[in-house]
Amino acid sequence: MVLLLKTISELRSHVVINRQKHQRQIGLVPTMGALHQGHLSLIKQAIAENDLIIVSIFVNPLQFAPTEDLAEYPRQLDRDLKLCQQLGVDLVFAPNAQEMNSIGDTTVLANTTTVLPPQNMSEVLCGKFRPGFFTGVATIVTKLLNIIQPDRVYFGQKDAQQLAIIRRLVTDLNIPVKIVACPIIREASGLALSSRNQYLTVKEKEQAAQIYRSLQQAATAFAQGELNAKVLINLVQQELSLVEGVTIQYVELVDPVNLQSLDQIKHSGLLAIAAYVGSTRLIDNIVLQKRQPIVAIDGPAGAGKSTVTRRVAHKLGLLYLDTGAMYRAVTWLVMESGIAIDDERAIAALIENISLKLTSPNAVNLPTVVHIDEQEVTNAIRTPEVTANVSAIAAQAAVREKLVVMQQQWGEKGGIIAEGRDIGTNVFPDAELKIFLTASVAERARRRWQDLQNQGRNDIDLQQLAQDIKQRDEQDSNRAIAPLKKADDAIELITDNLTIDEVIEKIIDFYEQIN
Ligand code: AMP
Repeated sequence: MVLLLKTISELRSHVVINRQKHQRQIGLVPTMGALHQGHLSLIKQAIAENDLIIVSIFVNPLQFAPTEDLAEYPRQLDRDLKLCQQLGVDLVFAPNAQEMNSIGDTTVLANTTTVLPPQNMSEVLCGKFRPGFFTGVATIVTKLLNIIQPDRVYFGQKDAQQLAIIRRLVTDLNIPVKIVACPIIREASGLALSSRNQYLTVKEKEQAAQIYRSLQQAATAFAQGELNAKVLINLVQQELSLVEGVTIQYVELVDPVNLQSLDQIKHSGLLAIAAYVGSTRLIDNIVLQKRQPIVAIDGPAGAGKSTVTRRVAHKLGLLYLDTGAMYRAVTWLVMESGIAIDDERAIAALIENISLKLTSPNAVNLPTVVHIDEQEVTNAIRTPEVTANVSAIAAQAAVREKLVVMQQQWGEKGGIIAEGRDIGTNVFPDAELKIFLTASVAERARRRWQDLQNQGRNDIDLQQLAQDIKQRDEQDSNRAIAPLKKADDAIELITDNLTIDEVIEKIIDFYEQIN
C-alpha cells in the first residue's frame, strides 16, 4: 500500500528508518502531480534502481508568476495515488504550500531564502519569458534533496533546461545525489506528454503535434550533415509557420550542458522550443548529437595494425574493439562447454544469446578486459589451447555473422577503433575515418625477419619470408569471407619509411581533422 505523507517531519522519520536501519537505497521522483506516462516512466526507472521509491507531488507556487496558471494547474491527488500504488511506489509526499515554506507567506520568492542558479543558465530559453521560474525550481529541488537525501533523483529530458540547471546546482553545491535523466515520452502523434496537455482541445492537440514534427525536420537535416544553427532553427520556424494556431515563443540551439547559444554544432546541440497552442504554453526539445567517430584500420598482415590501433585507442580515449579477443572469447566458451570445434550448428546455438563485454585496459600494454556473461575471462582466452583453435572458430560463417552484428551494435554509439581486413568495407562502411595501413612486401618481410632475429631465430631466410607474405596477401584478398580490400574512401598509409610513432601521429592528425 502506498503511504501518503503530508508533513516533513513524518517523511524524515520514515526515510531515516529506511536508510539507517534497513540500508535501503532511496530514489526520488519530484513532480507537480497530474501524473501521466512521462512521470510514470521516471517512476518505473526509479523502481528498477532503488529499494525505496518516493514520489513528491507539489505544485510549487515559487515557479508560477502572478499571471500564470497556478490556480488552474491540474490537481488530481486521488488519481495520482492510485497510479503510484499500481506501480509499487512506497511513499507519496504531498505537502501543502505552508508545510514547504515554514515561515510567513512564502509563496513568493521575495519572502524566502532562495537558490539562485547561474544567470547565464536561468535567464535564457524559458527563463527569458518566465523570470524567477528557475530560482523557484532550484529552491524547491534543493529543499526536497535536503529533506529526503535520496541516493538518486529522476528528471525528464522534456524539461531540458531544468535538468541542466539541476545538474549544475548539484555539482556547485556538492549535493551527494545521482541525477538520472529519462527520455521524453510522447503520444503516438509525437506530442510530448505534459500535464498541461489537458488544457488542449482535440484540434489544438493536432496542431501541437506539429511542434515535434518541426523538430524532426531539423533532426533529419542534421543527420544529413547540416550543423549550422541558423539553418536548423529556420527549418523549425518555417515548418511551424505553416501550422495554424501555433505561435512560437522561441526556438534556440544551445549547448546541452551549459545552455549557451551555439552558431554551429560541434559535438551536440539542444534544439529547444516553446510555443503557444491557443492559450497553452508548451515546450519540447531534441538533442542533436554527433556520434563519436569510428576509426577503421584495415590492411595486410604484418603492417603493424594491432600495435598502432592499440596505441591510437589509448591516446584518443577510444575503445579498442579487439575483434581478435571476441573470437578468442567464443573459442574459450566452445571449449568450456565441451562442444566439438567443428560442430558449427551447436556452436551457432551456443552463442545465440552470448553476452560479451570488452573494456579498455588501464595501460596500453595490457590486454583488453573481456567478460562473458559477467565472468571475467581476460586471461583465460589467451592460453595456447585457445590460440590453437581460434582460426577454426573464426572461419565459421555463423560465428562471424553473430560477432559482426555485435560489433556493429557497439559501433552505433561511436567512439571505437577497430582493425582487421574488412572493418572499413564490411563491418563499419560508414566509419568516419578509414585507414588502409600497409607497407611493401619487402618491408614487411624485413620487419618480421627482425622480430624473429630478436627472438633468437637466426635460421629464417628473408627471401622465403617475403614469398610467404606475398602468398598470404593473395589468400587474404581472395578468400570468400571478409576478404582484404581497401575501401574506396580509405586513406592509404604506406609505412615503409615511417616509425610507429610517426604512423600514430599521422592517424591522430587525421582524426583531429574530422572530429
Ligand atoms: P512536472 O510534474 O511537470 O514538474 O514533471 C515532473 C518530472 O517529470 C520532470 O522531471 C519532468 O521533466 C518529467 N516529465 C514531464 N513530462 C515528461 C515526458 N513527456 N517525458 C519524460 N519525462 C517527463
